[in-house]
Amino acid sequence: MASAGRLGGAVALVTGGASGIGRAVCARLAREGARVAVADRDEAGAGDTVGGLHAGGGTPHAKMGSPPHRPHAAFGVDVASAPSVTQLLARVQEHFGAPPSVCVGCAGVTRDEFLLRLGEGDFQEVLGVNLTAVARALVAAGAPGGSIIHVGSIVGKVGNLGQANYAASKAGVEGLTRTCAKELAKFGIRCNAVLPGFIVTPMTDKVPPKVLEKFAGMVPMGRLGDPEDVADVCAFLASEESSYITGASVEVTGGLFM
Ligand code: NAP
Repeated sequence: MASAGRLGGAVALVTGGASGIGRAVCARLAREGARVAVADRDEAGAGDTVGGLHAGGGTPHAKMGSPPHRPHAAFGVDVASAPSVTQLLARVQEHFGAPPSVCVGCAGVTRDEFLLRLGEGDFQEVLGVNLTAVARALVAAGAPGGSIIHVGSIVGKVGNLGQANYAASKAGVEGLTRTCAKELAKFGIRCNAVLPGFIVTPMTDKVPPKVLEKFAGMVPMGRLGDPEDVADVCAFLASEESSYITGASVEVTGGLFM
């Protein structure tokens, strides 16, 4: 039975769903009626996300008094590993009986260091997780029709001290998204990127409070973002309300760096 909402009945795969923006995206898509596959290398955290998700307006219950049917599921994955991503897609297909028609790539890492001190390993790791994984998800998207959304970063456009690897990976996400938008349009698959500014999540816990204060002061809207600010845009891009939008990068920055 399809649930009410803009994504009623759709299977949505969200990577990085155990934390921060990914967790908020899972919650938002579930409220829109999607059946959510929450994937993360932190499988326990992905399970916690599932536990907090809306069960779906039209979800059938087996019988009165029985525990509610849970339409969502948690999966462990390392998005930087091709075999792990292939296995994830097979498990999602098996669990839901269909491939995902919405795919939101939120898994990401930072390994900040000034360029002259940045090790090759940290450069490659950030590219591997933030960029190569995006390519794998795009190639793997087999559903006829659908929406792929990747979380890039405003840093990919403007650069940031100590984030050469991160900025390179996020700039790459945009180029890849636009190319895939061109290549996959004929299959009815739309590909868009969301570029958050500074959003309060466990990732920003690593940023010194003084630096965060400085950034908050630079935001025209006067505050750092919440994960829900990004999730709202992902829900729009996942839905038919954005059916003529592909290859776009949507900034969610409160006006920072406009
Ligand atoms: P977060 O709270 O750290 O969440 C990221 C999640 O991705 C974590 O659960 C993390 O697991 C997981 N992950 C990392 N590498 C993975 C891998 N190889 N395979 C599977 N899962 C993996 O970060 P966030 O702030 O929500 O960030 C989400 C996305 O938004 C990232 O792509 C980030 O670059 C982007 N972004 C964030 C901001 C911001 O200000 N927060 C701004 C712009 C863009 P572990 O905890 O085990 O690493």
